[in-house]
Amino acid sequence: MQKVEHIGIAVKNLEASKKLFESLLNTFCYKVESVESEMVSTAFFKVGDTKIELLETTNPEGAVGKFIEKRGEGLHHIAYEVADIHAEIKRLKAAGFVFTRQEPFRGADNKMVIFLHPKSTNGVLIELCQEIVGG
Ligand code: ZN
Repeated sequence: MQKVEHIGIAVKNLEASKKLFESLLNTFCYKVESVESEMVSTAFFKVGDTKIELLETTNPEGAVGKFIEKRGEGLHHIAYEVADIHAEIKRLKAAGFVFTRQEPFRGADNKMVIFLHPKSTNGVLIELCQEIVGG
């Protein structure tokens, strides 16, 4: 893995939290994007070499909706950038890690992504992401 690409934070109200994080980080949100397959709206901020991703559910039955219902707002996932997502999935599966899906899919911010199940990573939801070249 190359670096922490971004940190995901689950929020109840994206508009309000976007303003809060613009004030906190002293920078403007550079992208707002919905990911239909994940039932989320996202907002991204650059902070030095990494990013913050705010996530608001678009459906109470979505993963972020359920997360907020159980645990409230807060730290949701850590995303690591990888050079070859298929090679990393293979390596991690061989090491016994469990994924929430079997194949990577198109996530926000022009990335192919996949999540490790928190039950295999000490309760922390881990995302692997790889930039889509030319996407
Ligand atoms: Zn993410």
